[in-house]
Amino acid sequence: MRWILLLVLSVSLPAMAELEYSLKPRQIAEDTWLLEGSTDNFNKANGGNIVNTAFIVTEQGVVVIDTGPSKRYGEAMRKTIAAITDKPVIQVFLTHHHPDHVLGNQAFADVPIGALAATTELLHQQGDAMAENMYRMVGDWMRGTEVVLPNQVVTPGVHSFGNHDLRVLGLGGHTAADLAILDQRTGVLFAGDLVFYHGFWSLTNCYLLFIAHKSDTYLI
Ligand SMILES: [Zn+2]
Repeated sequence: MRWILLLVLSVSLPAMAELEYSLKPRQIAEDTWLLEGSTDNFNKANGGNIVNTAFIVTEQGVVVIDTGPSKRYGEAMRKTIAAITDKPVIQVFLTHHHPDHVLGNQAFADVPIGALAATTELLHQQGDAMAENMYRMVGDWMRGTEVVLPNQVVTPGVHSFGNHDLRVLGLGGHTAADLAILDQRTGVLFAGDLVFYHGFWSLTNCYLLFIAHKSDTYLI
């Protein structure tokens, strides 16, 4: 019986291992961590991880910027955050409604998920179709993923979390509603997909985060 179990494990483990995002957090400024995605288009090798997400560990708790392309990614992101800090996640901001930025929302269902009002409306209108498209493109990585709409309307202005004053900017250009966040403590600008560098881009496939840090400028 045992060898049968081992045989089953040996067959199934590699398949499971292939579906791990293996997120590697990179500290880019004080309290600020980047999870950098692939610059390829969506495919079954990257599981839709063509997005840059980020989190800020404030005194008050963790602020997350975008939740990634799938439930599995969102869960991996929470584990990654928990490995960095024991502070709770207290806020999620979504930069825009594209699937690689919002389909990890399920993993943050216990946290306020904030977006511009128009972003929520766009996700309401297009979310299911975008999720179906993601299932077609990346397959099993998406298993169990459902669209979760934001539950908080974010207005432009300064929102403070611990010692980080985050200036929320209501913009447009990549989509009809793009939210950018300037952390006034570190000078990091989280621009969602408003800025691209060395990557694939189309209206539905996008990946980048722009970072300006004090006198230096980083495009990552
Ligand atoms: Zn986008």
